Amino acid sequence: MTLVVAGASLAGLRAVESARRTGYRGRIVLIGAEEHLPYDRPPLSKAFLDVAGPARVEPFRSEASLRDELGVELRLGTPARGLDTGAREVLLDDRPVPYDGLVIATGATARPFPGPVPGVHTLRTAEDAMAVRAALDRGARAVVIGAGFIGAEVASATRKRGLPVTIVEALDVPLARSVGASAGAALAGLHREAGTELRLGATVTGFETRGGTVSGVVVAGEVLPADLVVAGIGAAPATGWLRDSGVRLHERDGGVVCDATLAAGPPGVYAAGDVAHVVNPLFDDGPMRAEHWTNAAEQGAAAARHALEPASARPLPSVPYFWSDWYGHRIQFVGSPRADEVVVAVPAEAGLTALYRRGDRLTGALTVDRPKEIMKYRRRIAVAAPWGEAVEFAGTTRRAA
Ligand SMILES: Cc1cc2nc3c(=O)[nH]c(=O)nc-3n(C[C@H](O)[C@H](O)[C@H](O)COP(=O)(O)OP(=O)(O)OC[C@H]3O[C@@H](n4cnc5c(N)ncnc54)[C@H](O)[C@@H]3O)c2cc1C
Repeated sequence: MTLVVAGASLAGLRAVESARRTGYRGRIVLIGAEEHLPYDRPPLSKAFLDVAGPARVEPFRSEASLRDELGVELRLGTPARGLDTGAREVLLDDRPVPYDGLVIATGATARPFPGPVPGVHTLRTAEDAMAVRAALDRGARAVVIGAGFIGAEVASATRKRGLPVTIVEALDVPLARSVGASAGAALAGLHREAGTELRLGATVTGFETRGGTVSGVVVAGEVLPADLVVAGIGAAPATGWLRDSGVRLHERDGGVVCDATLAAGPPGVYAAGDVAHVVNPLFDDGPMRAEHWTNAAEQGAAAARHALEPASARPLPSVPYFWSDWYGHRIQFVGSPRADEVVVAVPAEAGLTALYRRGDRLTGALTVDRPKEIMKYRRRIAVAAPWGEAVEFAGTTRRAA
């Protein structure tokens, strides 16, 4: 028996760890496009950008730990080029790797701003983070394109160094798709309080360059001076290698379409993490592709169990969770943002709570600086807690604050 995991990041690592936890003693091959051992991405837009940030990106586990403790054959710097589901082989540049079970965990790649222009970056990999940090170390004037979570964190890191930053966002309300319009508007206030200039409903139409590198960003005919531009405009599933493989790819973004057990169609093939569209049995949202750490970790672990023993595969009724850190504030979200009503409450002392109602159920919650509460909402969403009870609970926590 051979388990092959394509993609050596969070979901891929959790897949190999979980395979060994189940007692599986067979062969495991971990295939990764990057030269690096699996490493953590969230710090790349947070502590890593600080003046006194870590000198380098540390892997989750050493090579010796992966090889000797987990018995993993590492194929790093070796992207999967194709998949033959008939022969059950992952195709590499050299010899194909046969599999009995396969976990697709190739994640997503940052969408680049059409260009390319030197000095205009995305932020997805260790190399990206080093380039952004080097520009900040030089005291860059920064423009961030896109007021999503990564853009917001880059702006926060820039302000922490006392450097000027402008965020240019095409939508009128940032993060409206991720957290809804009212909570998105409340979060926009965090940028303004921190001295970040926020240009909403504004589109970047081009760049100016000087000496071969970016010197300005053109927005509605105006030029915003910039020596560093970071485009946080989303990520696309890394599935080019799956074309014509029999794995169904989503018509909108090319992600892998899975059922609720993470099965991707062909026998023995499961997908996990940022690459996968999965039906969550707790919501009637249809297949959802989340780009969140906890989702990738949970799905990676489950996909390996299912690939090793398909008869035991079960839906994963997990309430989505993500966090983001801006300007010293912790933003956390659980559930789904699709709602009939969102109630935003500002507690007496600090932070914010927004509750999301669908029908008579609580289906989502957002908090700012209320870390003790968010998991209580997550548990309520998991058991389909009635809306009235959740609102009452929020009231007690506000009084406690
Ligand atoms: C800067 C940044 C900050 C973040 N902050 C947060 C946060 O605060 N909170 C939160 O919840 N989430 C955060 N996330 C999201 C979280 O990191 C991702 O959800 C998680 O990394 C997804 O893991 P993954 O293994 O599915 O995919 P990825 O991490 O995308 O890994 C996929 C791996 O597969 C490799 N690969 C691609 N194609 C191939 C191929 N053909 N063959 C072999 N390997 C291939 C890639 O090189 C990559 O190493 C952040 C992400 C980024 C980029």
